[in-house]
Amino acid sequence: DTAMYQAKRRGGGYAVYAVEGHEPLAAMTMESALHRALERREFVLHYQPQWHAQSGQLTGFEALLRWQHPELGLVPPDRFIPLAEVTGLIVPIGAWVLQQACVQAAHWITVAPALRVAVNLSARQFQQPDLIGTVTWALETSGLAPHHLELELTESMLMQVVEAQDTLKRLKALGVRVVLDDFGSGYSNLAYLKQYPIDSLKIDRSFTAGLGGVQASTQQAEALIQAIIQLTHALNLEVTVEGVETPEQLEIVRRHGCEYVQGYFTGRPQPAAQVAKLLPSVLPSSS
Ligand code: C2E
Ligand code: MG
Ligand code: MG
Ligand code: MG
Repeated sequence: DTAMYQAKRRGGGYAVYAVEGHEPLAAMTMESALHRALERREFVLHYQPQWHAQSGQLTGFEALLRWQHPELGLVPPDRFIPLAEVTGLIVPIGAWVLQQACVQAAHWITVAPALRVAVNLSARQFQQPDLIGTVTWALETSGLAPHHLELELTESMLMQVVEAQDTLKRLKALGVRVVLDDFGSGYSNLAYLKQYPIDSLKIDRSFTAGLGGVQASTQQAEALIQAIIQLTHALNLEVTVEGVETPEQLEIVRRHGCEYVQGYFTGRPQPAAQVAKLLPSVLPSSS
């Protein structure tokens, strides 16, 4: 089980402990384990399909980072990204993610020319003076045209980073798409968002979770998601609904006119070799 460990602060560092059924990783600190993971190429990307809600066409994939740990198995990002963020290791890890995702997308577009790949940025990466340089490097070394790359960031990142507006403008000038992730989980100030050059907004899956089913609250949830979709469209932004887990939920959000859907019902995150089966013809994967 990948959830069988935890990080604890100890003497200023973090140590990895196996919780059940595993030997503790004793002296190895979490930080050095993350360092080594990068060197040993233990990080992998899984890809979750994103679909055009109305036509049902595949539009792209979100790249989601996992740590393929030799003993612990596949470790989900929530378990190590916070520490990678604190230590700054997210910068080299994030650069790897960007390039790897671009290389993969460059393969895919040879058979599906309109596909996009979405990459999550962390706050630390977003603050890096060289972010533009890193994105440019990932595009150039992979040969991917910028309009195939989508960068996902969150509202809190926009609010925390003083030069956010300038950074976004420079990213847009490169030709990449900028998407606001987890909308509704934070400040959710649509009026405030107007000042940022954002292409699209992803409605947090906590909104989707209330849709469908038999509870009385489902109507309220539907009214809420409908209102968010309408407001987003009023701002000339596209909408992705995240966390679509049932056919009923898909039907509801489609009816309310969202552009894109993503969720377990429409496809779980999977290794590149698996998602290649969704493409018009199967390609050898790069990872
Ligand atoms: P996120 O960007 O909001 O990604 C969506 C998360 O929701 C993914 O979790 C995905 O597996 C999960 N998900 C997708 N559809 C469904 C659904 O229908 N139901 C439910 N319950 N969950 C669904 P994952 O892969 O564990 O990633 C968690 C978070 O870790 C991401 O949230 C993102 O914030 C962060 N993350 C992942 N990869 C990276 C990365 O390369 N860099 C950075 N900085 N953050 C990353
Ligand atoms: Mg995301
Ligand atoms: Mg999200
Ligand atoms: Mg998130």
